Amino acid sequence: MEIIIPTQCEICHAPMNKIPAGISKKTGKPYNEFYACSVRDCGWTWKKPTQQQLEGEKRHEEVMDALRKLWVAVEEMKKEFKSFTVIFGKNEEPKGKV
Ligand SMILES: [Zn+2]
Repeated sequence: MEIIIPTQCEICHAPMNKIPAGISKKTGKPYNEFYACSVRDCGWTWKKPTQQQLEGEKRHEEVMDALRKLWVAVEEMKKEFKSFTVIFGKNEEPKGKV
């Protein structure tokens, strides 16, 4: 998966500053390099996703893909069996409280 490093803040669109990896003065723990919005009051930061996060995203994609295939299969069934349209059609557009 391709990682796109943001060049602009997602909130205020100011340029991002690259913060090199170091050790937190607050906690004394090391941290990886990250990007921070150049507007101090904004506070938006961006970190490169970890391998674990990337794996999780990949699994999510796989699940979504399986759901899309399932949806297509249901659509095909609806075409083939009119009774399916009756069952599935009922709840397609729920009308109720928002
Ligand atoms: Zn910002």
